[in-house]
Amino acid sequence: MKVRTFTGGGFAENGYLVACDDTGTVVVVDPGATAGRMAEAVRSEGLDLAAVLLTHAHLDHIEGVHLIRAAFPDVPIWIHPADRRLYAALPQQAAAFGLQVPPVQPEPTDELEHGQRFTFGDCTLEVRHTPGHALGHVIFVAETGEFALVGDVVFQGSIGRTDLPGGDLYTLMRSIREQVLTLPDATVLHPGHGPATTVGAERTGNPFLVPHFGGRLA
Ligand SMILES: [Zn+2]
Ligand SMILES: [Zn+2]
Repeated sequence: MKVRTFTGGGFAENGYLVACDDTGTVVVVDPGATAGRMAEAVRSEGLDLAAVLLTHAHLDHIEGVHLIRAAFPDVPIWIHPADRRLYAALPQQAAAFGLQVPPVQPEPTDELEHGQRFTFGDCTLEVRHTPGHALGHVIFVAETGEFALVGDVVFQGSIGRTDLPGGDLYTLMRSIREQVLTLPDATVLHPGHGPATTVGAERTGNPFLVPHFGGRLA
């Protein structure tokens, strides 16, 4: 599998295009402000778009879903059911930031669940439910263990904020401990904001996760 990052917008959100090398089949993860560029890449390279996968339904991760759908009208949209309400509240989220709402926000078509194995082409992503930043947050872990798309759960040197509706610090810490830090140290983490990192780098150097810096995992 190959992961391509598309970063942009006021939130500097990372959208991802994950390609299953041998088949030309791809999935789009968290199409935000750069969704138009992502759709253009899929179209111009003749790739086969299997799905839109959403880590969670915050504005910056879903504001470009309609652009993917405009280019690929039949593509399914997958989300965890616990974030459906947040997804439907996109107008309120946009109002809170003084932003424009997309003209038409397509409805999700399918629901992700913890432990699900999402297959596209010959490739498989494991779905792990990781609440704490958002109720229905999930991460997508390559079956090979080489990488994980972790949304706003953990970042290089930081963790997701927990002060938004549905957020809870202890729940987030449990998600990180049980669903992220249990991956091999070499697993590359692709977060929703900022640069890629690894499980090992965050396990040993992330100030929120290292007990003697005041972290709460001890
Ligand atoms: Zn978020
Ligand atoms: Zn975000």
